[in-house]
Amino acid sequence: MSNIQAENLVKSFGNGEAAVVAVSGMSFHISTGEFIGIMGESGAGKSTLLGMLGAMNAPTSGRLMVDGIDIYGLTNEKRADFRREYLGFVFQGFHLIPYLTVLENVMLPLAVCSGSRKEKRGMAMEALSKMGLSDKADRLPGEISGGEKERVAVARAIVNEPPVLLADEPTGSLDSRNSRDIMSIFQKLNSSGITIVMVTHSEECARYAERILFVADGKLVGDRPGARVCQN
Ligand code: ADP
Repeated sequence: MSNIQAENLVKSFGNGEAAVVAVSGMSFHISTGEFIGIMGESGAGKSTLLGMLGAMNAPTSGRLMVDGIDIYGLTNEKRADFRREYLGFVFQGFHLIPYLTVLENVMLPLAVCSGSRKEKRGMAMEALSKMGLSDKADRLPGEISGGEKERVAVARAIVNEPPVLLADEPTGSLDSRNSRDIMSIFQKLNSSGITIVMVTHSEECARYAERILFVADGKLVGDRPGARVCQN
């Protein structure tokens, strides 16, 4: 389950005349299993919104409810638990640790979870296998291609099987062929039940979403069905 309800979310930075209102009153609902694209010009408030959805950035006002729980009403510790159990994150650029192997990078989010090293290794190998990267497990990030690095980043995001995947420009560093690969992986993950919320500038990527939220000047200005390209 991962029903997400944003209730009049506002986020401002700074005070007085210097204050910037990055998100100014957004309300929407995302149902379990949706694949959402968030689009809008640079500076529109997309990343700020994603940070709030990611339980990383408290709204100035408004509420974020997930399965009936007020996320910013939780203690910091409980919110960290929520983040760990519910959410996977993929950001632009891969943020892999260069001196750890691909496998060790994917195992990182499991460091704070219970379970033996063998179990965690098994989970990481399974995530890599879903990305078609089983044979790259022992390589260092410097020894694989950009498209493969992004797939490692996705494997790391889903290794603990979160119900929700949040992605900020996941194809921003990739060429069009690798972008298509990542989008078809997202579509498969979504078909297996993961809710996906993806910020993207790319019309091409947005076509893979089933619903697109358009953001301008911190407001939600459109909420339309996406094209939902079905490949494979
Ligand atoms: P987008 O992701 O759509 O490019 P952002 O959410 O990054 O937009 O930014 C929305 C607005 O909020 C911009 O005007 C940006 O400069 C401002 N902003 C974002 N983060 C901060 C911050 N930490 N401090 C001050 N202003 C910020």
